[in-house]
Amino acid sequence: MTVYGERGEALLQGQKRIAIIGGGIAGLSTGIYAQKHGFRTTIYEALPQIGGVCAPLRTAGVSLEPTLRFLNGVREDTPLYRCWQETGGLQDTLPVTPDSFFTAEEAGATVNFCGDINEFLESTAACSPEDREQLKRFCTAVEKAGAFRPATECPPDLLSPLKALAGAAGTESGRLLLRLRTVSLQDYAQQFHHPALRCAFREVLPPGSTLAQLVFSYSRFLSGDLAVPVGGSAGIVHRMAKRYLAEGGQLRCKDPVKKIIAANGAARGIVLAGGEHMLTHWVIAACDPAYACRVLLQDRYGMEKKLQDRYCMPEKYTTCSLVRLFFSAPEESLPIERTLSFPTDVIPAEGDGISRLRVTQFSNDPTFVFNGRAELAVDFPIAGRQAFRRWEALAGQQAAYREEIRLLADSTRQALEKHFPQMQGLVQFLGCHTPADYARRFHNFHGSCTAFIPTAQARPAPLTGRLPGLSHLLLTGQWLGPTAGMHTALLQGKFTVQRICRDEHIP
Ligand SMILES: Cc1cc2nc3c(=O)[nH]c(=O)nc-3n(C[C@H](O)[C@H](O)[C@H](O)COP(=O)(O)OP(=O)(O)OC[C@H]3O[C@@H](n4cnc5c(N)ncnc54)[C@H](O)[C@@H]3O)c2cc1C
Repeated sequence: MTVYGERGEALLQGQKRIAIIGGGIAGLSTGIYAQKHGFRTTIYEALPQIGGVCAPLRTAGVSLEPTLRFLNGVREDTPLYRCWQETGGLQDTLPVTPDSFFTAEEAGATVNFCGDINEFLESTAACSPEDREQLKRFCTAVEKAGAFRPATECPPDLLSPLKALAGAAGTESGRLLLRLRTVSLQDYAQQFHHPALRCAFREVLPPGSTLAQLVFSYSRFLSGDLAVPVGGSAGIVHRMAKRYLAEGGQLRCKDPVKKIIAANGAARGIVLAGGEHMLTHWVIAACDPAYACRVLLQDRYGMEKKLQDRYCMPEKYTTCSLVRLFFSAPEESLPIERTLSFPTDVIPAEGDGISRLRVTQFSNDPTFVFNGRAELAVDFPIAGRQAFRRWEALAGQQAAYREEIRLLADSTRQALEKHFPQMQGLVQFLGCHTPADYARRFHNFHGSCTAFIPTAQARPAPLTGRLPGLSHLLLTGQWLGPTAGMHTALLQGKFTVQRICRDEHIP
């Protein structure tokens, strides 16, 4: 067990104690805001390192980015940026804006969601004149969505009924996004005539996403609010952990929580795997809610209905995982695009095999460049429970699991070298994350790499993180937000502390 920072102990007599389960972005955010509001908190993290899925990753002395392709809220004049500043996440760091949000090659054409909307329109319309009108409408929507600001001040359940009702529908951009939420990106893509446009709009976001998610994300990218902070996700975690300790919080890594103590309708504390009982005023579960209810509360309390629905209705809230293969290649041999998707010979993998590669390169950030070589991540989306079960079963047989990864890595390396001849003989495989890792290490539902993706069938349903019949326990983290992402985990941590303050009558 590792114990960091003990400043709290002597100083904070009489302060209410909070146990936070999970040291991802959400746990850290909860801890920082709670410390700022006078609580005495301890974060219990099961793994040896803080950061959850964003924990620093090193292989053979090389730093790798485990997650972050883009971060939301890096522009200084946005409310979300203020939250990153309040928690130290973006302290003293610079954002890098790659040239493109996403690029797809198909049928001999290239579609590039580049940093200039006019250039995007002209290049795509030149490639497919008969799609010009639909492309124009898409670009108009992206421009309008630029004015939209997600709620960062306060969660809807703490707003006055009038304000809560107005919500996103109170602005033109909000109304537009509400409308586009009902359009599946898959269906939208099919409306294009040109195969490259159909492919690009289908591939740009994970399966199940809506047109609203693309319009919103691309508009944020164009405004410079969606970018990449130098140091990546590990840098954010490091700065937040430092801020948390400076605020007097206590961090205990490699200290898994086994059980939440509940009696007479209230959470009373936690039991650690080592047997220690910690009595606290509040318990915050900053991990997957299904795991918290099923394992830590031993199914004695259920979650709120709207959250339960997300787990039970995959047609409305889908989960998606991926196999991420980490490679390195000489910096000058990499594609210039941040993320590029291109067709390949069939790679024997999920179902009928995989015939496209999705490659993200990290050479814009010197953190991920070493001896002239830069990180290159290849993602294979794994959608659905069945695909997850296959990986889960494989993970139970070590030799077969390792062999599957070796085959996948070999065929991917060959496909990379075929597509980028300048990489011939120079690509090195460094490691791999699979759905089995996300399930076993982080206890994520169905090995999902992020929380739910709301589909076109989902209707906005703000959650509170409260459990019916159990007070002094709140769920928080990416699973509670409208979409997944580090910014969601950050905001949910803040909202959770606002709920505690409301219950404790703290302004
Ligand atoms: C491959 C990948 C790519 C991604 N790309 C992006 C991106 O480009 N942009 C973006 O914004 N987001 C991205 N994300 C999503 C983003 O990283 C997550 O949404 C966010 O980090 C989740 O934070 P969290 O704190 O809610 O959860 P987690 O990071 O999952 O933290 C939960 C923590 O709880 C701990 N825990 C669980 N059980 C226990 C227990 N019993 N006792 C103690 N601790 C426990 C776990 O070990 C873990 O550390 C990506 C994620 C992945 C995996």
